[in-house]
Amino acid sequence: MQTSEKKKVLFAASEVYPFAKSGGLADVAASLPKALAKEFEISVILPFYSSIDVEKYYIVPLDLSYTINMNQKNYEAILYGCSYEGMTYYFVKSPCISEKEYFYGPPDQGYEDNAQRFTLFCRVIVELLKEDQAYSILHLNDWQTALAALLVKEDENLQLKTVYTIHNLAYQGIFNHSTLHEIGLSEHYFNMDALEFYGNINLMKAGIAYADSITTVSSEYAKEIQTETFGCGLNGFLRYHQHKLQGILNGIDTKVFVPETDPHIFQQYSSETLKKKRENKKSYLKSSGLKGIHKPLFIFIGRFTWQKGIDLLIKILDETADLDINIAILGEGETAYHQKLEKIASLHKHIHLFFGYKEELSHQMYAAGDFLLMPSMFEPCGLNQMIAMRYGTVPIVHRVGGLKESVHPLEVFDPKSKKGFGICFDKPEPEALLQAIKVSVSLFKTSQYKKVRKHNMKCDFSWSSSAKKYAKLYHDLEQ
Ligand code: ADP
Repeated sequence: MQTSEKKKVLFAASEVYPFAKSGGLADVAASLPKALAKEFEISVILPFYSSIDVEKYYIVPLDLSYTINMNQKNYEAILYGCSYEGMTYYFVKSPCISEKEYFYGPPDQGYEDNAQRFTLFCRVIVELLKEDQAYSILHLNDWQTALAALLVKEDENLQLKTVYTIHNLAYQGIFNHSTLHEIGLSEHYFNMDALEFYGNINLMKAGIAYADSITTVSSEYAKEIQTETFGCGLNGFLRYHQHKLQGILNGIDTKVFVPETDPHIFQQYSSETLKKKRENKKSYLKSSGLKGIHKPLFIFIGRFTWQKGIDLLIKILDETADLDINIAILGEGETAYHQKLEKIASLHKHIHLFFGYKEELSHQMYAAGDFLLMPSMFEPCGLNQMIAMRYGTVPIVHRVGGLKESVHPLEVFDPKSKKGFGICFDKPEPEALLQAIKVSVSLFKTSQYKKVRKHNMKCDFSWSSSAKKYAKLYHDLEQ
């Protein structure tokens, strides 16, 4: 297909790897557009944060600037751009977005003007679409971009279709009622069918109500968010809009997470040379100060929040001292968790903690680990378990959301299956996690363990099948 015949898509997200990443959204916003680029002319737009490395990625100002008026206040924005690995990226630069240290706010809090910052981002997206009417699809992600669905729908000059993807329903962009005016919207939107949410405004509701199609990142999560337990107060609203909701499982970027060529790891390896994985473990143990190559190494990588099951982990860490294992934890998040983890780690030599966000280190840990701990209380999709399986690290997961869909219990292991396998537990309780770790310890030396890790490495966790579903959705919407 010639480029000119391709449908034009604008993909908007608040973080995109490698420019800005704090979690899975950035991975998806990088890898899904790439997977769709053969079939669509797709560009990606994100906010211009102060931490973005302009020189490394040759990011330059474009000849496009905007003055956005909200509540009688002018916000100046300039569009920057770059081409990276064959894709076009746009960056929205404005003092309120770009002169702050963090993406969303310091640990434990969001910036007070986040509603204005991300509404400005949405309004610039809409201006860009008005200038270039060739776009036929706008793909929005999470609450930071949700308002663009409303702005597009309410603009009679714009005919394009919008897709809204919920990556995590727990973060909805809730602000007090007066914010509605500060972001330049009238009282007309303060009702239950639009933005009103228990007396506040909820920006995610704009995506749900006004997008032409809603997706979320696994079929399981699509079902779960319509229940009271996982619906975060929006279950009824989502059920009302369920005719346009579907779950599409995320994939991982098989160019980034690839042990055969990963430049960050000590020793590259494949399913055929799995023995070499041990060199990564050796190297990691040396650098972390952990002792005992014969002991199974459990890794945990992620945000320290209730969602990720960090409470369960903290509760059992003392008891793991008797198990002849090592545990390596990488992450950052709520201060209370940092303090608790630090205290426990100071008492035990088998636990290594690294606070912070470290992309290279995470790759080294996936390569070094024997088991990945992922006891999430809820998990929309989860990427860690897929990355771990790709690196021959067997996941231990609470069967929920995307974890349930992507990790199948070892009890039903079938070497002919194309699915990935791991150790699964049903109740998100500390005892269940501890029991799963004990099961892993007994499994570790068996031939079945070797078979499973080799099997998992050969599974396809790429975007290939899910990107087709998004492509179909884009085409269907246009009809
Ligand atoms: P989230 O809910 O945080 O988006 P996902 O499982 O969807 O979780 O994606 C997490 C992604 O972020 C994975 O690529 C994981 O390796 C990475 N990650 C999480 N925390 C860290 C960290 N502290 N350092 C490096 N990478 C991290």
